Amino acid sequence: MIQLTHVSKRYSNGIVAVKDASLRIEQGEFVYIIGPSGSGKSTLMKLMYRDERLSKGKLTVGPYQVHAIKNRHIPKLRRHIGVIFQDFKLLPKLTVYENVAYALEVTGAKKKVIKERVREVLHLVGLTRKANQFPDELSGGEQQRVAIARALANEPSIIIADEPTGNLDPKTAREIFEVLETINAQGTTVIMGTHNNQLVDQYKHRVIQIEAGRIVSDEVEGDYNL
Ligand code: ADP
Ligand code: ADP
Repeated sequence: MIQLTHVSKRYSNGIVAVKDASLRIEQGEFVYIIGPSGSGKSTLMKLMYRDERLSKGKLTVGPYQVHAIKNRHIPKLRRHIGVIFQDFKLLPKLTVYENVAYALEVTGAKKKVIKERVREVLHLVGLTRKANQFPDELSGGEQQRVAIARALANEPSIIIADEPTGNLDPKTAREIFEVLETINAQGTTVIMGTHNNQLVDQYKHRVIQIEAGRIVSDEVEGDYNL
């Protein structure tokens, strides 16, 4: 349901961050993207949610031809993909509830629907009791759970996580991996760029390794060996 065919990305400064990448990810898969810093993991993921435009090749995500997508259709593509980041990217002046609700408000959802869905996703990440707190009143792990809840609000078929545990201690990182395992077990595709070798080796999934923009290995139940 995600297919890249000979995809390359050249930034305007001349750096080719992704080189001739071809791969296919089926609905419901859990895929780790590993590789040294600067190898192109973020860029590869940004191409999928069309935060960056590809320079060459073809990329389809579900029904969307991302290589040819018109700007006005990008919001619809993004509703199929929930994204989470290392630094959470929560809105600091909004409560937990409001941060999650916001993702639904921008789609024009009705208040009643929003209320139900926010409760549901906060329950899923175990944060029901923190709904009225502000991000800076929460631990890093709790903030990442809010970000996950927000990413799930629109019932995306895909979650893309760019180094989601990079700012978290080992125990909290494990909890975040477990939340993503649960989400994946419910049928959502999870694509995670990560440096967390221990957890990649423990929670076994497909591992795609990138080096200098090229996919150098792709293994079912792979190990983290950089
Ligand atoms: P990773 O996520 O593996 O650390 P990135 O995809 O962030 O790798 O970066 C891959 C390469 O592309 C690096 O050389 C980086 O400096 C470069 N790069 C990333 N973003 C941009 C950008 N917006 N403009 C120019 N070069 C970029
Ligand atoms: P992350 O790796 O945490 O996803 P970024 O994607 O912001 O972080 O940046 C990754 C790399 O790309 C960094 O090395 C950064 O210096 C480089 N980079 C980001 N934006 C640009 C840019 N506009 N021009 C050149 N390099 C960039």
